[in-house]
Amino acid sequence: MLFNFMSTPPVCNYEGSDYQASFWEKGGRSYEDAVEAIALKRLLPQQGRLLLELGAGAGRNTPRYQGFERVVLLDYSLTQLEQAQQRLGSDNRYIYVAANIYRLPFVAGLFDAATMVRTLHHMVEPELALNQVYYVLGPGAAFILEYASKQNLKAIIRYWLHRQQWNPFSPETVEFTQLNFDFHPAQIRRWLKSQGFEIHRQLTVSHFRLGFLKRWVPLSLLTRMDAAAQLTGGWWQLTPSVFVQASVSGPKLRAEPEAFFRCPACGSNLPELSEELACPGCGKHWPFEGGIYDFREKTP
Ligand SMILES: [Zn+2]
Repeated sequence: MLFNFMSTPPVCNYEGSDYQASFWEKGGRSYEDAVEAIALKRLLPQQGRLLLELGAGAGRNTPRYQGFERVVLLDYSLTQLEQAQQRLGSDNRYIYVAANIYRLPFVAGLFDAATMVRTLHHMVEPELALNQVYYVLGPGAAFILEYASKQNLKAIIRYWLHRQQWNPFSPETVEFTQLNFDFHPAQIRRWLKSQGFEIHRQLTVSHFRLGFLKRWVPLSLLTRMDAAAQLTGGWWQLTPSVFVQASVSGPKLRAEPEAFFRCPACGSNLPELSEELACPGCGKHWPFEGGIYDFREKTP
C-alpha cells in the first residue's frame, strides 16, 4: 500500500510544544544529544544530494547533515518547524514541510538518504510509516533509523523484579504512555526487511542513561564510554535507544529530475517545486506560508 486514502492513524503532534527547550536544553539531555551525534556521524553517508529528515522537530540534528546539498525538514507541527527556521536561519539548503508521515507528499525515488530519529516511537502503525519512507527513497538510498527499544536493561530488571507487567523479550510493541511506543529490535529488523531494506549496522545508544551517572560522571567521559559501547550494537541490543543503518535493496527507479512533490490526497504529481501548489488531480490547494509547505489535511 503506497497511499492510504482512508483516514490515517492518529498522529503525535508537538504543535505549540516547547519540547526543544524543556526536554533538550533545560532537561539535562546533553549526554543523549552528544551520543546521538556520534551515532549519526558513524552511520550517515559522508555526502549526498538530498536528505529527508523525518520528524525534524526544531532542527536539533539538522546541522549534522552538512554533507548533503539540500535537506527537507519534515514534521507534523508547524510551530516545531518555525523553531527550526529560527535555529537554522535563512538558508536555501533547507526545505520545510509540514506533513503526515503516513502520507508523505513526495514522488517515488526522490531522496538519496533519510533519517528518522526519536520519531518512530510515536507511530501507531510503524510498518505503514516505513513503507512510506521506502517509497520516497531512491535506488540504494541510505536510511538511518533510531527507535526506542523495549528490550533494554532497565525494563528487563524491572520485569525480573515483578515491577513491570509487560515482557521485554516478546516481539509485540508496548505503548508505555499514549502514542509512545517501545519496539523489540528483532521486530524492527523484520519490518525493515519486509519493506525491502537491507540492514548494514546497528549501534546501541545511551548505555548510561541513568540519573546518578549523568550527575557524577563528567559528560565527556560518559560520552566516550558510550561511543565505545555503541560498537557492540551488532551483537546485542540492551539500550533504550538503537540506531540502524539500512539501505534500499533491489531494483528501484529514481525520480525524474523535475519531479518533487506529490499530492498526499490523490497521489498526483504536483507542478515543479514552486510556491503555488494546486493539485492538477484533485484541485486541492496546498499552502506555502512563512517558508513552510503545509500538506496536512484539515479535518472538517
Ligand atoms: Zn490531489
